[in-house]
This record gives sequence, structure tokens and C-alpha cells, in this order.
Amino acid sequence: MFCLACLLFIAPFFIQWRNVSGQADETFRSWNQPVKPFRIIGNVYYAGASDITSFLITTPEGHILLDSGFPETVPQIKRNIIALGFRLEDVKILINSHAHYDHAGGLAELKELTKAKLLASEADAALLANGGKGDFSFGDRLSYTSVKADQILRDSENVKLGGTVLTAHLTPGHTKGCTTWTMKVSDNGKIYNVVFVGSTSVPGYKLIDNAEYPNIVADYKQTFRRLKKLPADVFLGSHGIFFGLQEKIKLLAQNSDQNPFVDPNGYKDFLKRTEKEFRAKLKEQQKQKKLYRKS
Ligand SMILES: [Zn+2]
Repeated sequence: MFCLACLLFIAPFFIQWRNVSGQADETFRSWNQPVKPFRIIGNVYYAGASDITSFLITTPEGHILLDSGFPETVPQIKRNIIALGFRLEDVKILINSHAHYDHAGGLAELKELTKAKLLASEADAALLANGGKGDFSFGDRLSYTSVKADQILRDSENVKLGGTVLTAHLTPGHTKGCTTWTMKVSDNGKIYNVVFVGSTSVPGYKLIDNAEYPNIVADYKQTFRRLKKLPADVFLGSHGIFFGLQEKIKLLAQNSDQNPFVDPNGYKDFLKRTEKEFRAKLKEQQKQKKLYRKS
């Protein structure tokens, strides 16, 4: 059923996000500022931009790269990997948090450059193959060079390389195949659980009567339940703002003895906060629907 209230609710979002190809959009540009790459913990390195993340996980048998950023982030990632002392051609596996323009836009180029295998969930592999077109909410507006996954990941599937094991947890909602990754790292004789959150944000989505994504609400709820159960010492994610990247970079520079990225409470707080936001948006849309019905 057509819902004017819903349309009014999401209209400002569309206006904000139109015409975003290249780095014409000021918000997108601000997310893509260069950052000095650094080692986060164990064999996990930061190779991304100021807010759009990219993680390099190194092993003796080659490396895994999680997320490409925008198409415009690729030159930074290339420079960062080299500055960290690694070689681009040693990246053997590419993985993705979710198939949106700002996290998957550069995957085609990175795949070409590295000849790495791209692994993705079924639903997001379809979005990657479409270059972001046909997204349930953005339609064709946030498109990028399409890229084909070499392997489809099932829920809880392990990706292994050179003694490192990453686990793919399907956490749909933000995209239908949004994936949260976990791994264990060893650092200074201690073992830590690392979580790379796909995304829990609800950027102007139609949550009620969404014909393009009928299960959206159930998926978000299940994703929150799932994320709350993951053991998390080191909290990372697809946007720096999720886990306080900029603040933690400063803290790391001030006191390298205490790793600020070890932040189990930050992870719990993030989930509490974003679940509250999701529920508030759901409630608001339910209210709007009732108002519309009465009018
Ligand atoms: Zn996204």
C-alpha cells in the first residue's frame, strides 16, 4: 500500500544522498580523508580512510583485505598497504562488510590489482554483481563498478589463510547480505576476540510494508540478538564513527601500552545505542502509519 507518511519521512534522506557519484557529496568526502595507516592489534592493520574503514589482516601465506571503501579510497588503500610494509600482490582474499558504494565501490579495482579471490554472502554477492544497482532502498543511485564474487559464503563459514581464521556472521538489515566478521588475534601473549561490525544503521529505510524487503524488521531484530552474543574484546566496524576510530587513534598515540581498540564496553554501548535508534525509527513509522490510516 502506498504510504505518504513513509514517503515524507524518507524524502529528506533521498535529497541528501542524490548525485553522489565521484566525491561530489560533502559528507562522503569528509569520510574519505587520508589517515596514516597503523597496526591495530596482532596481525590486524588499519588501511582505510578517516571514517570509511579498510582492514588488512596479514598472514605468512598472504593477506586478507576487508572492504575497499569508495572507488576514490582505493589509491589510499594501495598507499597504506605499502606504507605498512606489505605488498598489494600478497592480498589473496577480499571480503566485504556490505555491498554499499562506500564499502564495496573499489572492490572491482582492488580485485583487478591484486588478483585476489572475492568472497561474499549470497545476497550481497548479487548486489556486488549489479554494481550496487537495484538496492532495496537506494535503487540505482549509489552504483559502482560491478564485481563478481568467486565464492559465496554461508552463515558462520570460516575463511582460513596462513593460520588466521575469519568467521562470516550474516547480519542482514542494513543490506540483505550484510556480514559481520570475527576472528581471534594473539597480541603480547594474549588472545583477543575481534569483531568487525557490518552495520546496524537504518539510513532512512522504510521499515513498515517494505515490498522490496518484507523481512527487514525481523532481520534487524535477529541481527541485534546475534551481535549481542558475539564475544568482543576488540571492537571494529565498517565506519570509524561506530567504534570511535579518531579518538582511539589519538589515545593510541598518547599511550601505546594500553590499546584503546580493546573496548568490550564500547561494543556493548554501540549495540545498545543503535538498537535503541532502530526501535525509535520503527516506532515512529508505526505511528505515522496509524496517523495515515486515520486521515
Ligand atoms: Zn551501508
